[in-house]
Amino acid sequence: MSDQSFATHEVSNQSPPFEDVNLFLSDAVLREAVEREGRGVDAQDLAAFGAATGSAHGFEIGRLANENLPKLHRFDQKGFPADRIEFHPAYHEAMTMSCAAGLHCSPWEHLKDSESGPPPGAHVARLARLYMMTQMEPGHVCPITMTNAAVPTLLLQADLAEALLPKMLSRRYDPAFKPIAEKTGATIGMGMTEKQGGTDVRANTTTAQPAGAGGPGAEYILVGHKWFLSAPMCDAFLMLAQAPGGLSCFLVPRFLPDGSVNPLRLQRLKEKLGNRSNASSEVELQGVHGWLVGEEGRGIATILEMVTMTRLDCAVASAGQMRLALAQAVHHCRHRSVFQKRLVDQPLMTQVLADMALDVEAATALAFRLARAFDEAAQSDAAAAWRRLMTPVTKYWVCKIAPALGYEAMECLGGNGYVEESLAARLYRELPLNAIWEGSGNVMCLDVLRVLSQDSAAAAMVLDDLDAAGAGDKALASAIRDLRARLADPEGLEAGARWFVERLAVTAAAALLRRHAPAAVADAFVASRLSGGFRHTYGCGAAHAGSRTIVDRVMPAEGG
Ligand SMILES: Cc1cc2nc3c(=O)[nH]c(=O)nc-3n(C[C@H](O)[C@H](O)[C@H](O)COP(=O)(O)OP(=O)(O)OC[C@H]3O[C@@H](n4cnc5c(N)ncnc54)[C@H](O)[C@@H]3O)c2cc1C
Repeated sequence: MSDQSFATHEVSNQSPPFEDVNLFLSDAVLREAVEREGRGVDAQDLAAFGAATGSAHGFEIGRLANENLPKLHRFDQKGFPADRIEFHPAYHEAMTMSCAAGLHCSPWEHLKDSESGPPPGAHVARLARLYMMTQMEPGHVCPITMTNAAVPTLLLQADLAEALLPKMLSRRYDPAFKPIAEKTGATIGMGMTEKQGGTDVRANTTTAQPAGAGGPGAEYILVGHKWFLSAPMCDAFLMLAQAPGGLSCFLVPRFLPDGSVNPLRLQRLKEKLGNRSNASSEVELQGVHGWLVGEEGRGIATILEMVTMTRLDCAVASAGQMRLALAQAVHHCRHRSVFQKRLVDQPLMTQVLADMALDVEAATALAFRLARAFDEAAQSDAAAAWRRLMTPVTKYWVCKIAPALGYEAMECLGGNGYVEESLAARLYRELPLNAIWEGSGNVMCLDVLRVLSQDSAAAAMVLDDLDAAGAGDKALASAIRDLRARLADPEGLEAGARWFVERLAVTAAAALLRRHAPAAVADAFVASRLSGGFRHTYGCGAAHAGSRTIVDRVMPAEGG
């Protein structure tokens, strides 16, 4: 009898662990999206990253980093303020992997050489890695995302950027608590949310008084608090505070130029539903030194550059997390038999899995189409229009449908999905987060309304693009007509904004799938989501004609 046997029974009919799966090669939807939207992206490199992130070791890093929570040390043994976070080595390993792969900086690496411009497909290449890394371990991706997103805001203040960028663009992760100048690499966080207002940052009460003459690049003293400050061991933060000229953006380093510690006093770490490996702190700013980025009173416009980038990451990460949830479900159903038949072959289960697969196809297609718009926005008005309008649309829709898919995928695993050791349980707790931070659902809808009122040409360009993609598809043409009609009559659009945003997201996804995906996928998506009134109870609508084809496409039988 082997060590794994029990006295009373043999363990059978359990699916093998979902690990050692190449997260790139096993994912045809991702591979095609990258090939389509990111011309010139190195697929071999992505395959190597897919092997590392999907390895048993990669998933073990994810488990350990989330089971061993970050610890706050407010004081040292002698009672001096310490304000340090201690992480499990697995967290540091994830950070090392992400930094080595340039997840925190790769689209900006051309800035090291002032002669060159960004390479084509730079955002798509990075986001393909992010899509995979979030499957391995999503929590550490928070400072990684913020560091990458901080670059365009920092570039608005060239003197500050000059000192910091070389460290941010380094691929060497350096967790040491010491001044940036002494480190091999640096990460950047973001401090906007206060107790009395997160969305409404104009309600911020933290004050900033000039230490001298004030003005762009000058030193200010900040007094107040931040209610959510994630990854507080970052080397610096972009923070909002009320200067004499109004709400302004500041660069706040952990260390001051004289080598002393900037007095950011960490009060406690949040106890969160998920995202456990990421430390999210409450912090008091007791005369903290910050340097003004941009003009006084232009804080929202300045930090918006950063926020826009993080919204893109949220959409791509949620699509990646949906993919993981679905892949686990399909994997299990391929190995588990019920009533002498594998679950994947039971018609009702095939229908449920196929229905989920349609949303993964749609979310991935939309997310990477948006990524391309970020790569091309500087060269093309149409790309700039897609970036402006479809960032809030994609962030809204992809992040919002992700939790429902995570739940259904968990149910496909049966009781095994609900136990704590299951990756599905951890993923389920993670899934609502991307919809909440970086602009919650309603806030995204209001942003869409802002675009419609300020830049009606952007909506016209996006709808023209969809028209071209959907030519010949009656349901698609009718959906686009509906959207145009709604735009022509903006009365009452605010209360109906969720309908409009959701309809635009689904129509855009349908157009992308009609143009690029196999007919079985596009037909089923259009029939259920555009014409069929689908309401996110998976498997509930009319049966998809090609449901087995749809399932086999998203996850090859051998698991990569
Ligand atoms: C794990 C975690 C980590 C975070 N890390 C950071 C961080 O590092 N830095 C940081 O600055 N923040 C961080 N946040 C904060 C996050 O960005 C805010 O929670 C978010 O912006 C929402 O703000 P709020 O909590 O104040 O909610 P509110 O602004 O009060 O919003 C509550 C609800 O009202 C809706 N709403 C708002 N305005 C309107 C309107 N006009 N009409 C209709 N509905 C509306 C919103 O969509 C939301 O659903 C983090 C949050 C979490 C959960």
